[in-house]
Amino acid sequence: MEAMYRVLPISSSDTILRIPRKLQLSLYASILFHKDGNFSAKSAAPILHRFSDGVRRRATAKVSAGWFSGFTVKKDALPEIVKAGDPVLHEPAAEVPLEDIGSDKIQKIIDDMIGVMRKAPGVGLAAPQIGIPLRIIVLEDTEEYISYASKNETEAQDRRPFDLLVIINPKLEKKGSKTALFFEGCLSVDGFRAMVERHLQVEVTGHSRFGQPIKISSSGWMARILQHEFDHLDGTIYVDKIVPRTFRKVENLDLPLPVGCPKPGVYNHGL
Ligand SMILES: [Zn+2]
Repeated sequence: MEAMYRVLPISSSDTILRIPRKLQLSLYASILFHKDGNFSAKSAAPILHRFSDGVRRRATAKVSAGWFSGFTVKKDALPEIVKAGDPVLHEPAAEVPLEDIGSDKIQKIIDDMIGVMRKAPGVGLAAPQIGIPLRIIVLEDTEEYISYASKNETEAQDRRPFDLLVIINPKLEKKGSKTALFFEGCLSVDGFRAMVERHLQVEVTGHSRFGQPIKISSSGWMARILQHEFDHLDGTIYVDKIVPRTFRKVENLDLPLPVGCPKPGVYNHGL
């Protein structure tokens, strides 16, 4: 999931941002787009192979494939972010066998995921987004990222910083009857945003990168990130579940919603 530097306010009459427009644009230029050049020279469509363990893996000369297929990859080279349309993003990922969690292979994948997420920058990443069809997610939100959005927005979203989380084989349970309707984005669909209705509260269980069982009760923006990343493991990207007519370029985020679209905010379906 992309870091959200601009999100529509709860009321369309609110001012979108507290920082000057010029600065917004330069933030975007430096944070969201300047690295696009790194990804633009994309190689030919990846060839997917079905290995003997049934897991489909990339076997092209792309950086992300090197690790699995035994190519020599520079130590500091990070995998590319896989973009929408690549089959690895649209099919369910496989569970990580618990006995494999401590292996160099899995630990390297996790390190790569953290590196890619931070470099993007993003607040979450799922293994399929670097071409690895395994059920691993990483997420993290920082004071710095949050400081780029207005206080009104982050309060409405219930967005608070949290430390890096690595979850292997997550199970997600939606809690309560409240949902939150906000714009979100995805590093695999970069440059766009759309409104998605998410549960306000979720409980996630799984394993840490060290194989320890973990359980997380979460609400607000962190719960949204967890749901977004969890969806990736089932082959679902946010575009598959958006509120119709809200899909737009980041540059158009401030523009009014179409007539009849629900307003961003928290909804209680139990009432
Ligand atoms: Zn995503």
